[in-house]
Amino acid sequence: LADIALYHSKNSGRNRWAIYRPGMDALVEKRRELETALGNAIENEEFELYLQPRIDSRTANILGYEALLRWISPERGMVSPADFIPVAEASGKIIAIGEWVIAEACRIIQRGLEDKHVSINVSPLQFRRDGFVEKLAEIVGRHAVDPSRIELEITESVLIDDDQGAERTLARLKAAGFSIALDDFGTGYSSLSYLSRFPFDTIKVDRSFVSNLGQSDSAPVIIRSIVELGAGLGMQVVAEGVENIDEALFLAAAGCDQLQGFLLGKPVPVEKRAMVIDDTVSTALKDLQAGQGAA
Ligand code: C2E
Ligand code: MG
Ligand code: MG
Ligand code: MG
Repeated sequence: LADIALYHSKNSGRNRWAIYRPGMDALVEKRRELETALGNAIENEEFELYLQPRIDSRTANILGYEALLRWISPERGMVSPADFIPVAEASGKIIAIGEWVIAEACRIIQRGLEDKHVSINVSPLQFRRDGFVEKLAEIVGRHAVDPSRIELEITESVLIDDDQGAERTLARLKAAGFSIALDDFGTGYSSLSYLSRFPFDTIKVDRSFVSNLGQSDSAPVIIRSIVELGAGLGMQVVAEGVENIDEALFLAAAGCDQLQGFLLGKPVPVEKRAMVIDDTVSTALKDLQAGQGAA
């Protein structure tokens, strides 16, 4: 379903399909149903933002949370963003949904989130749309939230095939006080060129490199290089998808600034969010730090 939606958004006009494959009619029908249900999901209050902690690998303190959108559909149950975001993008509904996400993140901050920051995922369509910066500033201003509490996560696809438009938007967002993270780093076609084109605040090392740590000889080398690159460019390096203590200790020892992943906390509703991480994990990280300090 996702493949087809993406194909639609990239290659054909609205409601027109460029290619047909066997079984396509049923898929088109399913996608239409999903699209309609998605269209009513905001009014019906079926969305929720879950929070997943991001920690300082040295102190094990929680620095902030990534806001991850959940669609809890009465008919479908919990639908993964991997399934509905592409549909929302293809139908243009991502714009309204994206604005809901920004407003909800602001409400969460306003209700009290200590001094933690919140990272919001921004879809390429949303980012490239005229007036995005103004809309964002308007929503954040209306909720009286300080933009420095908010980090925007964009993927490399935002920067692809774009003459300076994206760079100008990024510069305006930074000027307005938002931080910018490059998400899923290393999965794109020319990751390195993007780093030289824009001063991101944060690089998020894609989960695939972390999960390959135990499996491939190249993964540790690549991670060390990204950490060094980020440090040299003055960017925070965050590892995504940290699932076990070996990965966490390797990353911390390699100098990766921040960790995010199921080991540190799964995405959960705001009121269930972790305030501190598991004691065993934080002790292991602090011991490593003490050992490195002594060495
Ligand atoms: P992402 O921004 O790279 O988010 C990280 C994804 O990895 C999340 O999946 C998170 O639940 C998952 N994850 C975190 N730690 C671990 C781990 O230790 N192991 C494993 N296996 N997975 C982990 P999720 O929540 O399903 O979101 C998938 C993608 O959907 C996100 O990838 C992001 O691209 C998109 N997305 C989520 N929320 C929004 C949103 O509000 N707006 C937009 N435009 N996209 C969103
Ligand atoms: Mg993200
Ligand atoms: Mg990511
Ligand atoms: Mg991703």
